[in-house]
Amino acid sequence: MKEEVRETSAGKRRDVPEARIALCKCKESKKIYGVRMEKAQEGWNCTWAFPISSDSAKREGYDSTILKGSIGRTPEYNGCPYCGTKVFVVCDACKKLNCQIITGETFTCEWCGNTGRITNYDGAGVQSGGDRS
Ligand SMILES: [Zn+2]
Ligand SMILES: [Zn+2]
Repeated sequence: MKEEVRETSAGKRRDVPEARIALCKCKESKKIYGVRMEKAQEGWNCTWAFPISSDSAKREGYDSTILKGSIGRTPEYNGCPYCGTKVFVVCDACKKLNCQIITGETFTCEWCGNTGRITNYDGAGVQSGGDRS
């Protein structure tokens, strides 16, 4: 059992954690938003969500963000700017993020239309994506 909190390896600055922006699609509003994720011990922590247009997401390159590992969130995380949920569903098929709105045990992916059962995300990876319009 590794219990102790490890400091980052020598030479790395602790005050500037690596951060990326992933895109999530809201089921409620059918709009996308950006989620800022900070590198954590094992995976990523959501710190902030903000509305963004698919054009600017594409321009910033947010549609090609790939994240590996588990996804958690910090206490400050504000949730989806449209529906307020703080929980994501990662699509099995396209690995993109959707807002989780509980409507039973199935969900439909707003990105690719895949339907499936809601299962626990296993940390296999997330592929961000923009609208292909
Ligand atoms: Zn939402
Ligand atoms: Zn999908």
